[in-house]
Parts: sequence; structure tokens; C-alpha cells
Amino acid sequence: MVIVGSGPAGLTAAIYTARANLHPLVIEGEPSSDSDQPGGQLMLTTEVENYPGFEDGIMGPELMARFRGQAARFGAGYLTAKASRVDFSARPFGIWVGDPETPEPTYRARSVIVATGARSLMLGLPSEARLLGHGVSTCATCDGFFFRGQHIAVVGGGDSAMEEAIFLTKFGERVTVIHRRKELRASKIMQDRAFRNPRIDFMWDAQVSDVLGERSVEGVRIKNVATAEESTLPVTGLFVAIGHAPNTDLFRGQLDMDENGYLVTHGGARTNVEGVFACGDVQDHVYRQAVTAAGSGCMAAIDAERWLDATSDS
Ligand code: NAP
Repeated sequence: MVIVGSGPAGLTAAIYTARANLHPLVIEGEPSSDSDQPGGQLMLTTEVENYPGFEDGIMGPELMARFRGQAARFGAGYLTAKASRVDFSARPFGIWVGDPETPEPTYRARSVIVATGARSLMLGLPSEARLLGHGVSTCATCDGFFFRGQHIAVVGGGDSAMEEAIFLTKFGERVTVIHRRKELRASKIMQDRAFRNPRIDFMWDAQVSDVLGERSVEGVRIKNVATAEESTLPVTGLFVAIGHAPNTDLFRGQLDMDENGYLVTHGGARTNVEGVFACGDVQDHVYRQAVTAAGSGCMAAIDAERWLDATSDS
């Protein structure tokens, strides 16, 4: 059993498959990379207050360390590296680590669970990366609570940005949506809701050029793309909501994906290839929560275990 990915989905699948004596190997990613780092997106957050069982909250990296340790306790193995190629066309499946041109795969597995997650698209500013988890966030559901009574900015003009902005008005005393054009991309209904909300205002033709603050966000620098005029918006939170991308390049041409590149699952965690299962954000663009990812990791493990039982009899 090989599990690719080590966020809440992959590590929950590891706990369950290890306890079922399937000796999972978790290819956990590489620490150097933001999108493929071991532990997934929770490694980029600070306090997690909505994961059940932690009434006082827990830091994202500590939560993932606990998941990891729990799976290790039952015998899960870890490889701190990225999978570079997979071959699901023949059994046992082939998984490469390192040079993808090597003729022989690094590992062969009777079953594979894909849990490579998704990444939030980011503006790409060094200051944004530095202050991620310290005022810069990609998840209002997770972090909105920390900005009670404050002025918050949301970047983006799509449905995600409107949803985040509307949600953030529960906490912030004012929410400014910063959008790079004059028109929103969001659906009409979401636009109307945002326009009607008295706590939301808009900055049009506006691009964030810098996030200000040393240890926490103190403002954002904004460039008007029409006039090149620069200004500063004194916010304490910046929510980046410019879309997400699933980490599925590795599986292109082998696993079915929807038009946005998310893996398609059916009947639980099954993919179009028998014996390959998928869980977590790599196949879920709707809920995207640690707890739902963990739940789907459990489903993938149970599906894989049953499939292995059924196929080893024949
Ligand atoms: P999206 O529709 O692709 O919108 C991304 C927004 O971010 C666009 O307005 C885009 O600007 C802006 N953007 C992209 N790159 C940027 C950059 N580098 N700098 C500044 N702005 C940038 O993504 P989404 O809002 O995450 O939605 C994804 C899909 O999920 C959509 O199909 C959406 O309908 C769906 N969704 C639905 C709901 C709902 O119905 N409640 C909620 C969330 C998402 P431009 O407009 O200029 O391209």
C-alpha cells in the first residue's frame, strides 16, 4: 500500500491502513516546497480552532505532527520525498521517486491512495509568503475569528472572494474587496449579496503590490492598474481568494479529472482505476476542511482494504 500525500487525508488513510496491517508507505512530500511539503496546507496555518477534539485549539503543524505520530505508532513508514511519476496501467502499480526516466519504478504497490491535496493560488509576493499565518490567510472559515472588530481585505473577484468577504463580515467591522478589474467574475447572486452587505466595500482596478508589517499584517500597498497610482490600505488581515489548484499533474492521462483538474471519485473513494483511491482536497473543491479530508482518508483506507481483500481471494 502506497499513500501519496501526508495532509489530514493521507495520514488518516495511513492510520487506518496501518491498523489493518497493510504496511502503508507514505510518500510525504518535500520540506522545501510550499505546495508539496509534508503535512500539507495545515503546515501553513497557525491556530486551528475547528478541528474537533481540541477544545482549546491546536497549532496546524502540531496537529499534523500528531497525525503523523499516530500512524507511525501502528507501523506506517514515511519517505520524505516527492513522487515523480506513477504508472497505473499495469499491476502492481509503479511509483517513482527521484529521476522519472529510470526504467524501473522505485516502488510497486498493489493499491495506491492519492492524497496530494490542493494549493491556494497566491499573489506571489515575498511579503505575502512571509506573513502567511500572521495576518495573511487563505481560509476565512479557519481564520476569520482572529480578526474580530478589525478591518480586513480580501483579494479576488470570483465566488470564493465574495464568499470569504461575506463570511468575514461576521467578524470584521469592515471588509474591503480588492479586485484587479472593474467587474467581478463572481456569479450574479454572490455579487448581489456582497453589494448589499453594508460592511463590504470595493477597490476596483486594484492590485496588491506589497503586504506591510514585520511580524503581522499592518496594511497592504495597492496599485491602481488604470492610473498607476499607489495607496496604502491599513488592514490587519489579508485573505487571498484568487482560486485553488489541485496537485494532480502527476496523474494526468491516468486518472479521470474534472475540467478544473480535480480527481473524480465515485462509490466512496474509487477512481477510474481499480485499486487506486483518492481522498482529501485533491478530489474535493467544495468543503476543503481538515476534518472532511480526514474523513475521506478513512473512507479511502476502508475502500482499499475491502478491495484488496476481495481481489486477493480471486
Ligand atoms: P475564480 O472564479 O477563478 O476567480 C478567481 C478571481 O481571482 C478572479 O476574479 C480573478 O480575477 C482573480 N485573480 C486571479 N489571479 C489573480 C492575481 N494574480 N491577482 C489578483 N487577482 C487574481 O476562482 P474562485 O472564486 O475560487 O472560484 C472557483 C470556482 O468555484 C468557480 O467556478 C466558482 O463559481 C466556484 N465557487 C462557487 C462558490 C459558490 O457558489 N458559493 C463559492 C466558491 C467557489 P479576474 O476576474 O480578473 O480573472
